[in-house]
Amino acid sequence: MVPILYSDEFLLHDTGRFHPETAGRLTAIQTALKSAPWAERLEWRIPTNVQARSPLALIQSIHDPRYIQALRQLAEQGGGQIDGDTPVSRLSFEVALLAVNAWIDGVDYALQSGEPCFALVRPPGHHAVAGIGMGFCLFSNAAIAAHYALKNGANRVAILDWDVHHGNGTQAIVEDNPNIRFCSLHESPQYPGTGQASERGLHKNVLNLPMGAGSTIEDYQPVFDQKIVPFLSEFAPDLLIVSAGYDANHDDPLAGISLKPQDYGVFTRYCLTITRKIVFGLEGGYDFDTLAQSVVETIAPLMS
Ligand SMILES: [Zn+2]
Repeated sequence: MVPILYSDEFLLHDTGRFHPETAGRLTAIQTALKSAPWAERLEWRIPTNVQARSPLALIQSIHDPRYIQALRQLAEQGGGQIDGDTPVSRLSFEVALLAVNAWIDGVDYALQSGEPCFALVRPPGHHAVAGIGMGFCLFSNAAIAAHYALKNGANRVAILDWDVHHGNGTQAIVEDNPNIRFCSLHESPQYPGTGQASERGLHKNVLNLPMGAGSTIEDYQPVFDQKIVPFLSEFAPDLLIVSAGYDANHDDPLAGISLKPQDYGVFTRYCLTITRKIVFGLEGGYDFDTLAQSVVETIAPLMS
């Protein structure tokens, strides 16, 4: 069984009619997963609710308490914009807390069982920096999950970010930590403009792999073979966290890379050569059809 950490509450983060990061993304993924040939081997798990386990103290160890408070107030007042790209609705704060819980439930599952799982959440997280959310992201889900893992038995945590955009927030939060290795594959130049290969982290624990517009799986495979797998394998991580965004698909409206959904199955197979203790968590991906098929392709190799 592969757990899918999901709640319908994730649909309640309302970004408005014209925003690409919408509830329909999760609905499309859900529909595709439920019609996959191995659908009965998925275990749909509702994340620990925020009354039973508030993640606020953990989030405060990563994010500026003033930002957390301002975000809560913005939601309580009915919502608004953090920046031009990042709307907040009345329920967004609570939904973002539940998303963090899903990621950390995923960490618990992977560490305890030694097996992979998928956190099917929104809002995404990898652009949020310590002091503020940005780029559709409210809390730094992957960095929070990594720190949670380090507090709960893991000695070394690897993060692979294959969203088409650089995971600037994740990198900024973890780049000083020798117990975390962060690797990002992203289109360059592209939003948010960070992620140069020269950014290596305080302990050479960061590996940025900028990819040119139009890149295909033929361009990505050598990068996995020669760079990503050696960098993360030699670290011998106790946990691999994947910031799984799907906006590098050819049909995605927000970027210019030319991957196909089945290429994400190739990525998963590379991850499985590093460890089976993997938490995949959803980041971007804005073309509903290829997004949904890509999640199916990501999970399919986990079934064997
Ligand atoms: Zn993205």
